[in-house]
Amino acid sequence: LLMAYDPARRLARLQVSLERAAVNARMVYEILDTVPHQRDKADAKELAFTNAAVELRDVRFRYPNGDEVLKGVSFVAEGGKTTALVGPSGAGKSTVISLIPRFYDPASGQILIDGQDIADVTKQSLRQGIAYVSQQPYLFEGSIRDNIRYGRIDATDAEVEDAARLAYAHEFILAQPQGYDTPVGENGMTLSGGQRQRLSIARALVRNAPILLLDEATSALDTESEAAVQKALDHAMDGRTVIVIAHRLSTVVNADKIIVMKDGSVVEEGTHVDLARRPDGLYARLHNLQGQSSEEQSPEGEAPEAPA
Ligand code: ADP
Ligand code: MG
Repeated sequence: LLMAYDPARRLARLQVSLERAAVNARMVYEILDTVPHQRDKADAKELAFTNAAVELRDVRFRYPNGDEVLKGVSFVAEGGKTTALVGPSGAGKSTVISLIPRFYDPASGQILIDGQDIADVTKQSLRQGIAYVSQQPYLFEGSIRDNIRYGRIDATDAEVEDAARLAYAHEFILAQPQGYDTPVGENGMTLSGGQRQRLSIARALVRNAPILLLDEATSALDTESEAAVQKALDHAMDGRTVIVIAHRLSTVVNADKIIVMKDGSVVEEGTHVDLARRPDGLYARLHNLQGQSSEEQSPEGEAPEAPA
């Protein structure tokens, strides 16, 4: 009976059901180890992480049967720093993020991590170094504990709980009928959007990966929930290379670098102060900064969403 709770076995079963169901890949991005296997190059090496710097060089990409959605994207996300991707809906931000763990491969151009082309390394070594928090956190059939542990299946109970504490999830978990053993997923306990997000952040934290990819939530969270999620994200971002698709102005303002995308291209790049000084720029328009000096923008103040 104990075996039924063995997370490795669950994960194996999960993988089978995912492959059968052929669910939308984006739904399962955050469970990086379970995405159906693609072959590595015969001479693929292990990726050696040093600073976990990520560089895109002239990356072009199209979805099967689609138009080109990335038209030569280049930027550097420095190791240990936060790089924010902003831009209108459809600009290609989520696509950029999905190329880093190699859910898709570019048509041309390169993606390098610490100078190593990710096309030349094993997917396992690549994905081990990456945690991903999606916009719509996916909870699998299973306990809350299992759902956090999917971030790293050999995590101990203590590590799962530490991650939950850092993600501001521990208290609401203890308040559930069976605590960490409470079933969630389709037939389980219904959790609020903010609670699901915090579980997803705990899952990323337990992974303890040097690179964090974050599709920030736009879903209307109540103020209390939003504050808890923000604190959880602050912990998750600490000391990591973060590439965040940022909707909250506060995240953007605090980023070390902002990449502004439009129609599959990078159109501006800089810090908030740099970009806010260009009144005709897309960034300034997205945040309604026309006619205001950067000093008038309050980084800690209201955080209106960028236009979708
Ligand atoms: P953003 O995250 O900036 O809103 P996306 O990267 O999601 O933009 O989308 C960029 C473009 O690629 C859009 O035109 C979108 O319709 C298209 N697209 C996104 N995902 C897929 C997919 N799985 N298949 C085909 N086209 C897609
Ligand atoms: Mg997107």
